[in-house]
Amino acid sequence: SLLITLLVFWFLAIAVAYFLSKSSMKPILESWNRQKQFSANAAHELRTPLTVIQNQMEYMLTKPKATIIDQAEPISTTLDEVRHLQTLTNRLLMLARSDADIIQINRQNVSLQSWFDQVIKPYIDIANSQTKAMETYIRVSGEGKIDEDLIRQLIIILLDNAIKYTPEDGTVTFTAEKIRDGRLKIEVKDTGPGISDNDKKHVFERFYRSDKSRNAKTGGNGLGLAIAKWIVDEHKGTISVKDNHPNGTIFMVVVPIK
Ligand code: ADP
Repeated sequence: SLLITLLVFWFLAIAVAYFLSKSSMKPILESWNRQKQFSANAAHELRTPLTVIQNQMEYMLTKPKATIIDQAEPISTTLDEVRHLQTLTNRLLMLARSDADIIQINRQNVSLQSWFDQVIKPYIDIANSQTKAMETYIRVSGEGKIDEDLIRQLIIILLDNAIKYTPEDGTVTFTAEKIRDGRLKIEVKDTGPGISDNDKKHVFERFYRSDKSRNAKTGGNGLGLAIAKWIVDEHKGTISVKDNHPNGTIFMVVVPIK
């Protein structure tokens, strides 16, 4: 009878597994697995900067210097990692909130030309301070309905990447214009290493980084473009990526603003 009980259990287990894989449970299981993966990746990303900070602190304690100036190097390394952690936690929080549907998109009429000028201005200085040129073409008369905070974050993500991946003496080009049917087109173009066709399929996924940028240690975590995609989706728009010629990348966003 033990054998029969075991057989019955075995049969039931298979039936349940089959039911779960075929039935309406599938999306729920998938989303549960995605959440587990998200937490695991997040913890992994947090660990690296924390280890660096710990090492730098231990170094300062074991090899104390007479003045704080003598400690400038470990302090500035620590500060870099703290900034990195700040961006990382902000982005994780943003994605967690978007998953929980906590963020309400708040579209309001904005006077676009002056708004864009203001958002872009600091990035011209940031690019120039790294001896990279930045060209801007902003032709957006009148008003448009956007969530200012979210679209600002979107622009910052694209510009940060464009500047980060563009080599010295390269050029970043920012374009914003109104196109037909009451839509806004934003384009960020760079003269960096470009993105391979295979990577293009994945760059909007959470935590995805191309091998190239992973190896180059450019200090990203693969969350920026996932957030950019979410922001564009919330605006019922589209985001796409293509090659710039002869080299570099173009990100294009189109959102309705009526
Ligand atoms: P990260 O913080 O790693 O930059 P993102 O989600 O913003 O994360 O980008 C994902 C990956 O896409 C990057 O790691 C990089 O491989 C690639 N990528 C994004 N923008 C560019 C760009 N302008 N030029 C080249 N590669 C880019």
